[in-house]
Amino acid sequence: MLGVYVHLPFCPYLCPYCDFAKWPLRESMARRYLDALFAEIERDRSVPAATVYLGGGTPNAYDAATIAELLAHLDRRFPGAGEISIELNPELVRDGDFATYRAAGITRVSIGVQSFEPTEIRTLGRKHTVAQIGSVVAQARAAGLSSLSLDLMFAVPGQTPASWHRTLRAAIALEPDHISAYGLTVEEGTPYFAWRAREPQAFFDDEREGELYAIAIEQLQSAGYEQYEISNFARPGHRCAHNVNYWENGEYVGLGVGAASFRGGVRSVHTRSLERYVSASLDGGPIPSEAERLEGRQRAGEAIMLALRTTQGVSLRAFKERYGIDVMTDYAPIVARFADTGLLERIGDSVRLTRRGRFLANDVCGAFITFE
Ligand code: SF4
Repeated sequence: MLGVYVHLPFCPYLCPYCDFAKWPLRESMARRYLDALFAEIERDRSVPAATVYLGGGTPNAYDAATIAELLAHLDRRFPGAGEISIELNPELVRDGDFATYRAAGITRVSIGVQSFEPTEIRTLGRKHTVAQIGSVVAQARAAGLSSLSLDLMFAVPGQTPASWHRTLRAAIALEPDHISAYGLTVEEGTPYFAWRAREPQAFFDDEREGELYAIAIEQLQSAGYEQYEISNFARPGHRCAHNVNYWENGEYVGLGVGAASFRGGVRSVHTRSLERYVSASLDGGPIPSEAERLEGRQRAGEAIMLALRTTQGVSLRAFKERYGIDVMTDYAPIVARFADTGLLERIGDSVRLTRRGRFLANDVCGAFITFE
């Protein structure tokens, strides 16, 4: 299957922890960018896609009619998508948006909630209120959107196990179909990075962050959400097919500034320069990108890393058939090391992360990637 990701990089304000490719919203540039996207969409022949994902940035910094216009362009080039998702910031949702989204083919909305605690929402630099979250969920349901996801964040400065419990309870009370729970990561170059350098005690260490992660797993599972990936929980039938395709090492096309693609064994990433992307696309020239062909160990290491993110882990037989690699033999020292430390386990035909391993997934996955 082919997934299509479209990057909509403008935000009405910039959050101090954010390291995504994003820019403050300016109307003239937002329109030029859209024209550049249309030009990129139309430069190749039509191919069917299974999923479309509009991510950001803040996709709903564009009005709903513009999103519908974009989806009409996408449908001509990538017909047939059964799942079409959009990320939304709650405070930007306007009356009637969901009806327009639904008419344009959107099936799934992912709402950037992060927290139900007003002080944490402010600490993260977000502008919505708790009341707006409930209202947006009710509007989406009333419009008949078939799948609704909430994004939550833990390890936020000032958060406590009790406040994280309250956020999870409030999220579950809204009965979303899907919940993503991400640990805050502090990236170099962000205002949060400077804050942590000044005041490291304001931030969570691994042990305290691990406690919050364990709370999320417990509370969400007991409310009927199955953990299917390190940070993702779904009710039956509501896994995000677009993201599942990434973890199964499927093919995808990324459109827009900084977007990544993976096709025919080649991974490529568009320039993160907004001006260079827009000019190249509007001029019809090649979009500046970096590309590399993934082969041999590198390809297998990437595939193991992606599969380990999922709760079913690496299926040994399927992996051998697809990549010609016997994980238990070819990666024996890594498997043994992490099995001994309780981060990996073998269950039947699969190797997967333990619950503790899920929290330390970067260490385990990094070892598979760099193993020679
Ligand atoms: S709204 Fe999202 S993309 Fe925009 S600055 Fe905040 S976290 Fe980053």
